[in-house]
Amino acid sequence: MPSLPSARHVHRVHLDDVSAASLDRQWVHIVNNGLGEPIRVPVVVVRGAEDGPILGLTAAVHGNELNGLAVLQRLIEEVDPAQMRGTIVMALAVNVPGVLLGQRGFNDGADLNRTAPGKPSGTSAEIYIHRVIDRIVSRVELLIDLHTASMGRVNSFYVRANMHNPRAARLARLQNPDIIVHNPPGDTTLRGAASAMGIPSVTAELRDPNKFQADVIAEELLGLRNVLVDLGMIEGRIADGVQQTILCDGSGWMYTDEGGILEVLPQVTQRVRAGETIARVRTIFGDITREWTAPAEAVVVGRSVNPINQTGSRIVHLGWNPRPMPPNGLPA
Ligand SMILES: [Zn+2]
Repeated sequence: MPSLPSARHVHRVHLDDVSAASLDRQWVHIVNNGLGEPIRVPVVVVRGAEDGPILGLTAAVHGNELNGLAVLQRLIEEVDPAQMRGTIVMALAVNVPGVLLGQRGFNDGADLNRTAPGKPSGTSAEIYIHRVIDRIVSRVELLIDLHTASMGRVNSFYVRANMHNPRAARLARLQNPDIIVHNPPGDTTLRGAASAMGIPSVTAELRDPNKFQADVIAEELLGLRNVLVDLGMIEGRIADGVQQTILCDGSGWMYTDEGGILEVLPQVTQRVRAGETIARVRTIFGDITREWTAPAEAVVVGRSVNPINQTGSRIVHLGWNPRPMPPNGLPA
């Protein structure tokens, strides 16, 4: 094996002292663990030959949502800093304790993507996400935060974006997802916190948790390449996706009001009509006790794959008013 390039230890992401046309590996110290040892987020900074936009890419804010990590590793492999303009800042695994535990949440049980922007002093999760934002995310000009569905559920490849923000809308479209859900970011997500700082941000949901999925990894890589081309950071032309993107005005989860053995009928990306049966629940003996129908025409953004359903479980994530988005010539 050749000797591996070393990664330096830093207290906030370094951009200015990264040489032009180079790739720099950094361990960014965020907090200390209970033994007094640093917990560090692995970051790769790719600085192009010329100055230009600073694009931020974050993965695994939820520790078991791993497809984004594979996307970023592939991007590191293929990007040539000498042929690039601007800077890419990739946080490969934001929720380091969660990744190590194979779990969505932080190691105090909190959800980092419901805790942003956090606080300079507060709970472990509040301090952690606050420092991630301060030490890494605040340095970027645009952000794409990479997620997947959570345990027991599967997602389409979809992007949540404020489609009223032209720059966020463009980031969303360029990724050629199956579905774009218009969703204003006024919330406690990383996207919300970055948007509040004036950083146009979108969340990309890359299918399913706890694994690497080659199809969606390749699709998102193509989408990120489109973003880099559109920002003038690399040469090339903007490619259309495999399928036409469906745009929705909003979305929502349906929940069960009766527990039992759950069967969800439509698959992700499938269209459903108002009144169509989309799920049913049986007793343990197999008798159907309840059926649910779609309240309106919709597209299935995500769905439960866990048949064991206590009353109040999630059934299906529906996108409202679905319609085709014109293919990606841009602008719309
Ligand atoms: Zn997530």
